[in-house]
Amino acid sequence: MRVLILGAGAIGASCAFHLARRGIDVIIVERAAPACAASGKAGGFLALDWCDGLPRGPLARRGFALHTALAGQVEDGLGRRPVETLLVTGARSGAPAPGLGPGFRVVERIGTPETTAIVDPARLTRALIEGAIAAGARLRIGTAAALEPASRGWRVLLEDAAVEAEAVVLALGPWTSRLRVPGSLPPVGALLGHSLRFELAEPLPPIVLFARLDRARHGLEELEIYPRGDGSVVVAGLSRPAAPPADPTAVEPDRGAAARLSAAARAVVPALAAARRVEARACLRPLSADGTPSIGPLSGRPGLWLATGHGPWGILEAPATGELLADLLTGASPRIDPRPFDPSRPAAAG
Ligand SMILES: Cc1cc2nc3c(=O)[nH]c(=O)nc-3n(C[C@H](O)[C@H](O)[C@H](O)COP(=O)(O)OP(=O)(O)OC[C@H]3O[C@@H](n4cnc5c(N)ncnc54)[C@H](O)[C@@H]3O)c2cc1C
Repeated sequence: MRVLILGAGAIGASCAFHLARRGIDVIIVERAAPACAASGKAGGFLALDWCDGLPRGPLARRGFALHTALAGQVEDGLGRRPVETLLVTGARSGAPAPGLGPGFRVVERIGTPETTAIVDPARLTRALIEGAIAAGARLRIGTAAALEPASRGWRVLLEDAAVEAEAVVLALGPWTSRLRVPGSLPPVGALLGHSLRFELAEPLPPIVLFARLDRARHGLEELEIYPRGDGSVVVAGLSRPAAPPADPTAVEPDRGAAARLSAAARAVVPALAAARRVEARACLRPLSADGTPSIGPLSGRPGLWLATGHGPWGILEAPATGELLADLLTGASPRIDPRPFDPSRPAAAG
């Protein structure tokens, strides 16, 4: 059986990885490059139990476990770093801690190295694509414009060619709604998020900070600081709903956002002021209508599958999403209950 996977973000890459390793003939179609969008620019924070109690809870837990296993399998690693995770604030309450700026204090320890970690999302996505290719998958750079029924199953129309397959997986993140398909798809929105990548001479200690800030003083209410083992530090914050531009590589930061984020981050962690390079980035989180990802078959259109809508947890959940999709598509017994993720659930329609 041939399966076409549209989109080489973390979700499409993981679907390709799991399907190709089960002997499926996989072709990945990507408009620009693997990890060119959110899957290359995210914080890469992983949490074992922060989604407990939500429909997606088992997907998140399975994702956390598969990340640990994957990090051990990839030769040059994925930058996985177990971390302490602290909630800090500029308010007077809490305990002082080394490395925090004047006035900032620790309010709560919200994760331990057993329950929280960070990973380099670009390395993860590329490693999954490389693993899929090593198992026989092919990567084709091209823009999928439309899907139509074909004798073999489905035909995907690219700019200058058409490719047929028995099954097609839509893993286009915020660009899913731009694809022309027979029938409707659950809506996928987009939340623009800003991030900065600081390069320091030495890695900061393995402590992730979730900071609550005074908007009047710092220009934003919260930010997150992810110190990677290679000396880079990713700071994320300032989100707003957005419409995706046609070209996924054309997502730009808002004017002034990088300066605000940078000043606030340096107030929380003064060591960031010594960075030798700072890169400003922006990317889009794909949002489902009910906050739960859609992973599974599209009703009434045999061979058409959806895997998107992971919002703030697409990196954490990518490995388990690919595994679940591959289980369902190959008829294997799924390792987690797929029902909460059914694209046909009424709440996904908005
Ligand atoms: C600032 C920020 C920080 C984040 N931090 C975290 C975090 O710490 N932990 C976490 O778990 N998640 C985090 N996320 C969320 C995570 O990044 C996303 O949920 C995840 O990357 C979505 O992956 P995806 O593969 O669905 O989409 P994308 O990464 O957007 O990939 C979609 C792909 O489809 C391609 N494409 C689009 N149109 C076409 C077309 N017509 N034809 C072919 N290809 C096409 C694009 O080029 C792109 O490569 C963060 C997101 C943001 C914005």
